Amino acid sequence: MGEMRDKTPIEWTEATWNPVTGCDKVSPGCAHCYAEAFAERFRGVHGHPYEQGFDLKLWPERLEGPLRWRRPRLIFVNSMSDLFHERIPDEYVKRVFEVMTAADWHVFQILTKRHERLASLASVLPWPSNVWMGVSIENRRFVHRADYLREVPAAVRFISAEPLLGSLATLRLEGIDWLIAGGESGPHHRPIRVEWLRQLRDMCSHSRVAFFFKQWGGRYPKLGGRVLDDKVWSEKPLPDLTRWTRTLALTTARRERELSSSA
Ligand code: SF4
Repeated sequence: MGEMRDKTPIEWTEATWNPVTGCDKVSPGCAHCYAEAFAERFRGVHGHPYEQGFDLKLWPERLEGPLRWRRPRLIFVNSMSDLFHERIPDEYVKRVFEVMTAADWHVFQILTKRHERLASLASVLPWPSNVWMGVSIENRRFVHRADYLREVPAAVRFISAEPLLGSLATLRLEGIDWLIAGGESGPHHRPIRVEWLRQLRDMCSHSRVAFFFKQWGGRYPKLGGRVLDDKVWSEKPLPDLTRWTRTLALTTARRERELSSSA
């Protein structure tokens, strides 16, 4: 997983961009981190992007990547790290946000488990409408991450309940636009329960929050499929997507005019 990838197995996005790689575990959802498992396979392989395994590494030469990627995409930022990791300098996080602001023909999705740093930096970051901000919540011990997220002035706020490790009955969904849920995969996966999922789906429906069920999980990610009660749940935060689509049409038309006038 190098600089930018136009294909990703992650169902709720289209592409990935990793201006930082590597991370450290912070909570039970990290136990079987897929990014760590992937990166560590290449530790010590001279010249490989993951020669340093899952150790934190900044890649300033990748920062401009989205500006060169012309076709609009949904881009998951730092699929191989956590942008709010404590050892990523404030200035670097700001540069990532500057690029996202400038590359306004894309939509960027950021996901963190470092809710406190997110909240402490939020006031010095720009929040253009093409940046969606999310927190991961795996069990009820971490539902307070949503309280920190609610303080962030992002156009779309979302929760990733994956791997879902317990009931999130105490989760409040005010100010949240989208919830993604999924079971863990891999040889040591911890099983998900259908009642936890039904509860989340019904909470979302009650609060008018878009619900996306990614996978049941199991030994292999796609093994169990993604049907819950006879339905594939692929809702997206539609009002904002509609707004974004309109913005995108205007932006694309403007860029085409700029390109044709400079030709
Ligand atoms: S925060 Fe995310 S990237 Fe970092 S170790 Fe945990 S699961 Fe992996």
